[in-house]
Amino acid sequence: MATRTRVADLRTSPQVPQGNVIVLGGGIAGLSAAQTLTAAGMQVTLVEAEASCGGTHRSHAIGPYTFDVGSIFYEANARLFALAPGLKEMCPTISRQQRRIAPGGELLHYPLEPREFLRRRPLELLLALLDLAWSRLRVRRNGGLDAISRKRLGRRFFESTGLRHYITRFHHVPPEEVSETFFFHRMGFIDKATRLRALARLTLRALFSRGSVANRPRPVLHVRPREGFAPLFERILAQLRAQGVETRLATRIDSIRREGSSFVLETDSGTLRASAIVSTIPLATLHKAVFGTSCGLEALDMTTLFASASWLDARVGNVLFNFDRHGRWKRATIYSRIYPEPALPREFLAIECTIPPGGEHAPDVIFADFRGHVEGLGLARDLALEGHTRVEGCYPLYRPDTEATLRNTLERIAQAGIVTVGRQGRFEYLPTSSGVIRRVREELEKAGLKSPADGPPASGVRA
Ligand SMILES: Cc1cc2nc3c(=O)[nH]c(=O)nc-3n(C[C@H](O)[C@H](O)[C@H](O)COP(=O)(O)OP(=O)(O)OC[C@H]3O[C@@H](n4cnc5c(N)ncnc54)[C@H](O)[C@@H]3O)c2cc1C
Repeated sequence: MATRTRVADLRTSPQVPQGNVIVLGGGIAGLSAAQTLTAAGMQVTLVEAEASCGGTHRSHAIGPYTFDVGSIFYEANARLFALAPGLKEMCPTISRQQRRIAPGGELLHYPLEPREFLRRRPLELLLALLDLAWSRLRVRRNGGLDAISRKRLGRRFFESTGLRHYITRFHHVPPEEVSETFFFHRMGFIDKATRLRALARLTLRALFSRGSVANRPRPVLHVRPREGFAPLFERILAQLRAQGVETRLATRIDSIRREGSSFVLETDSGTLRASAIVSTIPLATLHKAVFGTSCGLEALDMTTLFASASWLDARVGNVLFNFDRHGRWKRATIYSRIYPEPALPREFLAIECTIPPGGEHAPDVIFADFRGHVEGLGLARDLALEGHTRVEGCYPLYRPDTEATLRNTLERIAQAGIVTVGRQGRFEYLPTSSGVIRRVREELEKAGLKSPADGPPASGVRA
């Protein structure tokens, strides 16, 4: 059986004169890997396909509006802030107000509020509770998302809260065809809230607490700078360069091969050589570059629409999720409420809709659908499409058999001597940048590239 080649072994190989480690990808994972490797005394080159770093942290300025494609919220102790001095001070604070459109169009707290269950008719509540008790005893986990969701919530709550609709719209396949991994990684709140002890606490709170969860003070979160992500990532890049990291932006990796103990990387702007590679680019892209074939892992792309409106209902808060039966969109982030600008007469928001593998980016169709849905519910007026983008490989798609494919792919890449880290690098559903940085450090440590003491502890905000 082939043994895994550790980067540390390659670094000290006498056949490799320069000991240069190439980090592929300049998202959060790549930047944090570059920082860790440099701190461990390695000579690092960071290679990024785009002209700027940040990956899914990317802003789009359109006329007077600035939108993003992905991340935006960070807790005060987010690991991202440790990538360069002064980052936290660049990021203003806000209170996040998340709402969801429930089946039938009612606006409710997101993710779920215990009190909403008590507002049901007594018979309906009784049936849902009996169904929950029965599901706890009788539903067997089978590796699928449907079974674990029904076991924890009961079929009636799973469907009536709109969670089933949201999951189906997110994946474009029913929850029966999605792995239960999604429940534990993306639905962490529901996982924790539906453990027996938490359920008892929730019931007591629902019965005896007077206020609504939605009205309780929320922890203050940081958001990216008002002008967009660029100044944040320029500062991180400047810090890495000052520490000796060489950066190659606008350089896309096409293929990778071994020559003796070094790697040869063909890019769209020439050939690079390295004694070791740490990859944070999508695992499927890396597999193709190394073996020339597809590895079979599927990811969901996302259509993000940038829109404005003459009016939005104040009750939708600043982040709105779609748990309704209708509408293709899954989430809207209302930027005009995160970065208020009194001089602007219109609200502006980004709307997300996942694209199934092989599907098309169809912004006009998605926008017409969104407008029909929210204007029809009386939540918005005079919506206009300002722009759009397609974000590739936004979420890993875990089908029930994905884990075997993933194990096999990671094994082949490790045998080729490449270390993979990060959300994209290891095809992990990591919902926060802090989680990504934590996992990068864990994997680098496993590869012998980081001492356990390096790096500050921190948590992150689930997106
Ligand atoms: C929609 C969305 C919202 C989110 N919201 C939040 C949030 O509010 N708060 C939070 O903490 N986290 C949030 N996250 C999670 C977090 O931002 C991501 O998990 C994290 O940014 C992923 O970092 P990464 O470096 O693994 O991947 P990416 O950011 O995808 O970076 C991968 C990089 O590799 C580059 N690349 C790809 N192919 C090649 C190639 N062939 N050659 C060279 N380079 C290549 C890409 O250009 C990209 O820069 C969100 C994620 C998403 C998708």
